[in-house]
Amino acid sequence: MRNRPRVAIHKFSSCDGCQLAFLNLGEALLTAAELVEFVHFAEAGPVAPDEKVDIAFVEGSLSTPHELERIRQVRANSTYLVTIGACATSGGVQALRNMADAGQWVAGIYAQPQYIESLATVSPIAQHVPVDLELWGCPVTSRQIVAAIRALLFGVLPVEENDKVCLECKRRQQVCVMVSKGEPCMGPVTRTGCGALCPSFGRDCYGCFGPAENPNTTALSRRFAGLGLLPEQVAQRFLFINNAAPAFHAAGLKAREDSHD
Ligand code: SF4
Ligand code: SF4
Repeated sequence: MRNRPRVAIHKFSSCDGCQLAFLNLGEALLTAAELVEFVHFAEAGPVAPDEKVDIAFVEGSLSTPHELERIRQVRANSTYLVTIGACATSGGVQALRNMADAGQWVAGIYAQPQYIESLATVSPIAQHVPVDLELWGCPVTSRQIVAAIRALLFGVLPVEENDKVCLECKRRQQVCVMVSKGEPCMGPVTRTGCGALCPSFGRDCYGCFGPAENPNTTALSRRFAGLGLLPEQVAQRFLFINNAAPAFHAAGLKAREDSHD
């Protein structure tokens, strides 16, 4: 059999949900397995984390000193490094501890906190090693994964999707939940990629795909206030799954400052 490009899927601090985007490919995963060789994919079977590969997909954020060592090794072993999902790309829910007294949490949860070894802050992968492509979402979709593999096999990067979810709503003729129901929807500042999933079920977007291109967070914060949200509630809209993404982080801190005025 001819040499197929080698692919690894690595897990760091995460829930495994983005790896499921591979398994959810179903039959397409079998087709993909004919095109590429899955060298390391612990959730599906093969375990060889130290192998050199053409494409490394990385799920999860960096929370421990051991993870820092591992990601440097993954980078050294990979031609392309692709982050998959909110944790790897912008910290994920784990990064919420960066804004809290994490030591107090550890002491409150673990009977023997002295055995817990974690970094002072949680960070996305790109803060420590160069990243070739970031796929956003919590979780990413199978469609994004297929597009990334296909493009990288041709030696190019896929076109970045950074339109706002609102545009996807318009394309699908979806009734706006903010206008029709007064829901505090994050769609005006969130990048598309999900097909406006939440508004299509009549609920507000909570920003799981991270900031879109040129997000006007100031205007949206004002709109949320107009809908009756308190400044801390506005802050929590931004400081959620993608709290370490700079645009959302700054907007959340600004709202939190306002709550102290
Ligand atoms: S429902 Fe949300 S994402 Fe859709 S158009 Fe309205 S504000 Fe934008
Ligand atoms: S609508 Fe928003 S919260 Fe819902 S899946 Fe899409 S990006 Fe995520």
